[in-house]
Amino acid sequence: MTRRGLLQRLLALGLGGIATGRAAAATQPASMKAVEDMQKNWKALLAANVKVPLPTQPFKLTNEEWRKRLDKAQYNVLREEGTEYPGTSPLNHEKRAGVFACAGCDLPLFTSDMKYDSGTGWPSFFTTIPGVFASKEDRQLFAPRTEYHCIRCGGHHGHVFDDGPPPTNQRWCNNGVALKFIPKTGKT
Ligand SMILES: [Zn+2]
Repeated sequence: MTRRGLLQRLLALGLGGIATGRAAAATQPASMKAVEDMQKNWKALLAANVKVPLPTQPFKLTNEEWRKRLDKAQYNVLREEGTEYPGTSPLNHEKRAGVFACAGCDLPLFTSDMKYDSGTGWPSFFTTIPGVFASKEDRQLFAPRTEYHCIRCGGHHGHVFDDGPPPTNQRWCNNGVALKFIPKTGKT
């Protein structure tokens, strides 16, 4: 393994690492019913006049086309399953109302209501917009982790863990570079 490869593995391990913000979610829903309502009503946080694709409209490109469409960092995460350095994404601090969409294909994945501060350095969410991810077990590291991909374009986004805040106890640990934020009002 190259030095760079080793560093990337260690980083990826960090992605599974410490979630210190378990109690830090101010907007944490009180019940699963509240989470379900949040999922059902996610469009309430979508800006007016923004057209978004459906999970049922596949988006497929060749590798060459992906390279043209994405910048280097986006390509590395979405198409090569890379992991960004923790604490580098401006989206860690994004607190406005809105929707987080796939940087590869614009499919809405999370709302601002679903975000919480996990303290890990990656944007984290306790649930997702329904039906937008496919997952598979990732056995590259010592312990299996569940890796998830955008259902529309197949882009790699991150890993889901079971140490998130109640009531879901889920932590969707997402690379910020794989997301684009669409604020409900105002400029991107
Ligand atoms: Zn996508």
